[in-house]
Amino acid sequence: GKINVGLIFGSKSGEHDVSLKSAASVYRAMDKEKYNIYLIGITKEGRWAYCNCSPESMESGDWLDYEIKGAKINIIPSSGRRTGIELSDGSLLEIDVCLPVLHGPYGEDGSIQGLLEMAEIPYVGCKVLASSLAMDKAMFKKIMVFEGIPQVDYECTTKNEFERNKDAIVERIESNLTYPLFIKPANLGSSVGISKADTRDELIEGMEIAFSFDKKIVIEKGLDVREIEVAVLEDGDIKVSAPGEAISCADFYSYDAKYLAKESETIIPANVNPDQISIISDLAKKAFKAIDGNGISRIDFFIENETGNIYLNEINTMPGFTKSSMYPKLWEATGIAYTDLIDKLISVAMENHAKSS
Ligand code: ATP
Ligand code: MG
Ligand code: MG
Ligand code: MG
Repeated sequence: GKINVGLIFGSKSGEHDVSLKSAASVYRAMDKEKYNIYLIGITKEGRWAYCNCSPESMESGDWLDYEIKGAKINIIPSSGRRTGIELSDGSLLEIDVCLPVLHGPYGEDGSIQGLLEMAEIPYVGCKVLASSLAMDKAMFKKIMVFEGIPQVDYECTTKNEFERNKDAIVERIESNLTYPLFIKPANLGSSVGISKADTRDELIEGMEIAFSFDKKIVIEKGLDVREIEVAVLEDGDIKVSAPGEAISCADFYSYDAKYLAKESETIIPANVNPDQISIISDLAKKAFKAIDGNGISRIDFFIENETGNIYLNEINTMPGFTKSSMYPKLWEATGIAYTDLIDKLISVAMENHAKSS
């Protein structure tokens, strides 16, 4: 029979709109003969809705107009019923596997993964631990230090600390790092809340912006870099794709440069030498193993222009997933078409769940 897939999109995260694009693209590509696809949208306020919307309405943000019923996760599988997603009338959507095409907090940080674990519903991608470790840039960096993986110099601080002792924090940052600096909310993505600072005033302003998104932030030494990314697909073995390069049309790869400007581009395969490819590929595997990753991740590196040094930037456990996003394009270049990639991720999730239960 057909496989019942819960395609989950939207969410409370600052990357809500990016999720709509990724999910619409996935929905379009999925084989409707093979899958019953149940569309579960999460509003910006966090309300769950079972919908019958088109990919176009998903992309344009009108999807909630096509709500059939409210939905929630029934976390009591022991009631003798099959696990699934409960609707507002008490009926149950029986779900074989969930595909949470969600980016950022609540979707990519272990929250929804924990909820699906509780409900015993198999799902695509990293589990609770890997998701939360990769989402929290401060915690992630500590794990990478332990692994001896090269990263740019950085400092972390909290809103609490900053409000109490602003001058001392700024002094610490300026004495340990040199401008330009990148200021980032610890838990976010798509460059939301990230700024580049060349002066103390810009640093403070950037910190205030980052604190409006998260109570914990990371400040990094900004380098003049090429941005090289690889895709990881894990099905028991960890497979690493050929590298791609992200070329930003702006000063750095900001939200606008990623999603609004047409001039940003990806070059696949990236023009990097075989030694660099093998270093990056080994580091990607090591980092993915270190967080105990599953299924999918896009791992982002910097190559410093001046020195050629390679640094790990971050792991995205649910990377942008439109047909033209880096992750699917990297696999396409490595021989796995978009639709087959989705099939593969779903089958790996179901097999792993069957093995573990
Ligand atoms: P993603 O959409 O990949 O999840 P993100 O929000 O997690 O992005 P980062 O990848 O950490 O954010 O940073 C966003 C962009 O900012 C990078 O792609 C790069 O262009 C620039 N950047 C970040 N840190 C540095 C740095 N230390 N030096 C130079 N450029 C940087
Ligand atoms: Mg990220
Ligand atoms: Mg991301
Ligand atoms: Mg990134």
